[in-house]
This record gives sequence, C-alpha cells and structure tokens, in this order.
Amino acid sequence: MKLVFATNNQHKLTEVQAMLPKFDIVSLEKIGCFETIEETANTLEGNAKIKADFITKNYNLPCFADDTGLEVEALNGAPGVYAARYAGATNNAEANMQKLLDNLKDKTNRKAQFRTVVALNLNGKQHFFEGICKGIILQTKLGKDGFGYDPIFQPDGFKKSFSQMTSEEKNSISHRGKAMQKLIKFLKTQS
Ligand code: IMP
Repeated sequence: MKLVFATNNQHKLTEVQAMLPKFDIVSLEKIGCFETIEETANTLEGNAKIKADFITKNYNLPCFADDTGLEVEALNGAPGVYAARYAGATNNAEANMQKLLDNLKDKTNRKAQFRTVVALNLNGKQHFFEGICKGIILQTKLGKDGFGYDPIFQPDGFKKSFSQMTSEEKNSISHRGKAMQKLIKFLKTQS
C-alpha cells in the first residue's frame, strides 16, 4: 500500500521505509506536491493534522505527518510549537540555540522535553501518536552533529548531548523515534 509521509526529509523517509517493508512510503516530492503547507496551528497536533489533511484532501492518498516542539519547563513550555522560529522566521539553529541559552541564563531549572506528534489519515479515520524525550538544556553547546537544538539538549540517563550520539543511538530514545515506533506498531496491525 502507498502511504505518503508529508515531508521531503530523505533521512526520515529512509528510516521509516526500512521499518515498514510492506508499505511504499513516498515523499511530498514523489506525489508532485511542491507547495509549502503553512503550519498555522498553535499546537503540534494541529500542525500535524493540517499537513496530513492537506495531502488527503488534495491527493486522496493515505498519509501521515509529524510535528515537533521543544518544551522548556522554566519558560512555561516555550519555545514549544514555535521551536523552528524561536529567534525569527528563518529557522536559524544557531540563533535559536543562542536565544534559548540567553533566556535560561539565570535559571537553575534546566528541564526540557522534545515532543513529537504524528497524525495518520487512513481509511477515512484520523489517528494520533505521540513521542516524548525528556532531558535538560545544557549551559553550552556540546558536539557538532545533528540539527536544531541537538548540541544543547542532553537526554535523561546520558552524559552527552543529542549531537554527540550516533543517529541509531538518538533514534532509539528520541521523541520522533518513539512516535514513529507507535505509528509503525499500529500500521503493522493494518496490513
Ligand atoms: P519539525 O516539526 O520536525 O520540523 O521540528 C521543528 C523544530 O524543532 C526544528 O526546526 C528544530 O529546531 C527542532 N527539533 C525537532 N526535532 C529535533 C531534534 O531531534 N533535535 C533538535 N532539534 C529538533
């Protein structure tokens, strides 16, 4: 069965495809969708739903979409759903990290969590799957790999940042990895 993953991130696609050999996981590009789907909701659930519903409505294909936020306890959950645009519209990871470090300068509570929500539209029904990874925001950047806030996020139970982990190690404990595992478990009951 063909299943659209509402992303053009090849890394995410390859990873999910490997876990679901019975499904043909296709990107937005592959179905000829080159439009920017505006993420206008103020929740992760809302944005994942917008992306999944856009594909179902315009392409009439089963589809899933994900959205991730970073929720920092001492900042009352900010940047949350606005993680990509924390320091401005351009999604500049360096500027986003610097703004977060500045805003936490005097805070002793460094607790934070990444949260991913996946929305799946299948056979006329909508299903949601959530993955959470708890940790702390470090005082300074550690490591060069990864993306987004990886250098300043240290998951609970580890003494290194996401940036210092191999992708296998990160995927096995990450918010997105956990949400995808739940999606995959559900899909396996459907085929
Ligand atoms: P998206 O919904 O997956 O595009 O994530 C939104 C934003 O959250 C990204 O632009 C990153 O800034 C941040 N983010 C999401 N997942 C991660 C991660 O695994 N590590 C670091 N930052 C992340």
